[in-house]
Amino acid sequence: AKQLGRSRYEFFNVQLRERMQRRLRLEQDLRDAVRRGHLWPAYQPVVDLGTNRMVAVEGLLRWTHPVHGQVPPTEFIPLAEESDLINQLGEYMLRETTRELAQQRGRGVDVELKINLSTRQLDDPGLVTGIEEALSVAGLPPSALCLEITESALMRDAALAGETLGALRALGVRLAIDDFGTGYSSLAQLHQLTLDTLKIDRSFITGLGESTDSEAIVKSIIVMAHAVHLTVVAEGVENPAQLELLRELGCDQAQGYYLGKPAPAGKLWP
Ligand code: C2E
Ligand code: CA
Ligand code: CA
Ligand code: CA
Repeated sequence: AKQLGRSRYEFFNVQLRERMQRRLRLEQDLRDAVRRGHLWPAYQPVVDLGTNRMVAVEGLLRWTHPVHGQVPPTEFIPLAEESDLINQLGEYMLRETTRELAQQRGRGVDVELKINLSTRQLDDPGLVTGIEEALSVAGLPPSALCLEITESALMRDAALAGETLGALRALGVRLAIDDFGTGYSSLAQLHQLTLDTLKIDRSFITGLGESTDSEAIVKSIIVMAHAVHLTVVAEGVENPAQLELLRELGCDQAQGYYLGKPAPAGKLWP
């Protein structure tokens, strides 16, 4: 048994070492990717359920690795969030998406740009001036930009978030709470944060039409959000049944593979 215990220990040791080496390699590759231009923004349409028109796009970071191909953001974003790398990625996204959106606006495309902010970016004292600068370089009005912050990030440090959000609000950019329903914020907190938009997490949309619980949850989120004058967006809409239900429940906007998958600017606006 002692022998077995020892080899098992060594096995885990090797596994752990391999995992750490893979992470280190990925982090190094990611730093190179920023420099070599292997990163690019994909855009996913957000559709207004009243007019059926695309009213916004969400910019989503993509990494085309020269060897591994597409690395999913769910793999590299958490890694980047462990260091200042996320700030570099955030700055890249801000610069590139505002530039591309301004280009489309010049061609008469009138949509809002949504991008994601992580906690580390909220902690960055240069965030607000960085955003102001990017908007002015691109020649975009602040009202063209909506920053998405996850419910869990907002709740982790409500005081700091509140301060930064106040400064962003003063700048005139819009603010959204992302992945709503996965945390534990109250109606009072939502009201206090003075946001513009609430995005219902995909996990609740997936269950629409399958579980009456999901329907009840989505319904109550919409009622609650409307009570504090928030625009409600449903994410992860994958079929017409979900879309129809959301319409009936009074949801304002929707996003999902059924309405449009994330795509490069050149494909979305040929
Ligand atoms: P998120 O902000 O919740 O973005 C929505 C995710 O859902 C995207 O995944 C999108 O491709 C996916 N999605 C959209 N519609 C559907 C659908 O109908 N079905 C399914 N199954 N999925 C759908 P993606 O692009 O893989 O990004 C994952 C997460 O990575 C994002 O979740 C966000 O948290 C993070 N992320 C992506 N880009 C950035 C970025 O530039 N900055 C930061 N901080 N985070 C980012
Ligand atoms: Ca988002
Ligand atoms: Ca989301
Ligand atoms: Ca999500």
